[in-house]
Formats: sequence, C-alpha cells, structure tokens
Amino acid sequence: MRVLSRNDTLLIATHNSGKAREISALLAPYFSSFTTSAELGLSEPEEGGETFVANAQIKARQASKESGMVALADDSGLSVRALNGDPGIYSARWAGPEKDFSLAMKTVHDRLEGFNDRSACFVCVLALSWPDGECYSFEGRIDGQIVWPPRGDRGFGYDPIFIPEGYEQTFAEIEPALKQAISHRARAFSKLLEALSNVRE
Ligand code: IMP
Repeated sequence: MRVLSRNDTLLIATHNSGKAREISALLAPYFSSFTTSAELGLSEPEEGGETFVANAQIKARQASKESGMVALADDSGLSVRALNGDPGIYSARWAGPEKDFSLAMKTVHDRLEGFNDRSACFVCVLALSWPDGECYSFEGRIDGQIVWPPRGDRGFGYDPIFIPEGYEQTFAEIEPALKQAISHRARAFSKLLEALSNVRE
C-alpha cells in the first residue's frame, strides 16, 4: 500500500455522523485530522456495483476524486447462502424507504421456507482510495446461522435473526462490546489498521 504521512487528513466518505465518529476514533493514531463527505458537501454516489468491494470502491474513489484527498468508504450487509448471497448488497434496500428491518428480516425468513441450510454471514468491506484512483480494500466476515423468530433488542438491522458461529445468542442479544469485538466490521478494521501500521511514515 502507498505510504501515508501522519500529516494527512482522511476523508471519511459517509453522510452518517455516527459512523464517522466511530471511524475517526479508531483511526486517530494514523491521521492528523478527519473530515466527512457531509462536511465537504460532496454528493452521495449511486451504489451501482454488484459486490461489496465494488460498492465500497465506488464510494471511496468518487469522494477522493471530488475532494483531492485520501478517502475511506465502507459497504456491508448480510449474505445468506441458500438465497445465493441475498440480500447482500441490497441489505439496506430490502428494508424499504421506511428502513423497516422487521420487514427485511421477514423477507429473509419467507424466502428461506423449504431450505434446511440456514447458514449466512455478515460482510464488511473498507476501501481506501487516492485521488488518482488507486484503491485498496479490506474485507471482514463473520459466519453464522439465521434463526426465527427474531430475538433481542440490541444492535440494528438484521442482528435479531443472526447467531454468530460458536455462540447461542443472536447479535441483538449478546453484549454490544462482544459484538463489536468479533463482528465483520471489527475484522475489516483490524486488516486496515495492520496495513496502516506498515505504511505510516
Ligand atoms: P451500508 O450502510 O450500505 O453498508 O448498508 C449496510 C446494511 O447492511 C445495513 O442497513 C444493515 O441492514 C446491514 N448490516 C450491516 N452490518 C450489520 C450489522 O452489524 N448488523 C445488522 N445488520 C447489518
């Protein structure tokens, strides 16, 4: 990966301020400051890719090109094996404009009718891009099983129907700190942090 200087400002390519806060806390040792697409008034790109990697790279490249800065973007979702990877990159879209995840989880359950295979995974891809388009991606994944009915009221999205491998509780039942330590997002960030620690000047 390209060398980064401690003086670089990182553009976090998101309009979600909660996400930006979490990411800047994690990456504080590697950058002198942070900004976001929202702060710079950048447009929100269409997620027109067919994979998590493609969508994360589209978002990172566009933000980096528009701003002239190094940019980081993410894309994540739930992938169910018996549904050929769905909802996958459509995870947010299955919840509809109302962001109704009860509906999205019910759709997963309905489509799984008749299948014995309940295996699934959460995936998170982080993409780091330079203004000339050079881009690196880091993928984290956690395997598990889909259960029905939904259980637990912690977490978000599809957490109430996902039990991570090696556990008996859903992501919406387990301690949030434990989820944060083992999740697809944690795994993608640990790969990114390892790469950053090797290239910092
Ligand atoms: P993104 O913000 O475009 O990456 O969309 C991610 C979507 O995937 C979210 O709206 C959730 O539906 C789902 N998702 C991603 N990570 C998680 C998680 O940790 N738990 C539950 N759902 C998740």
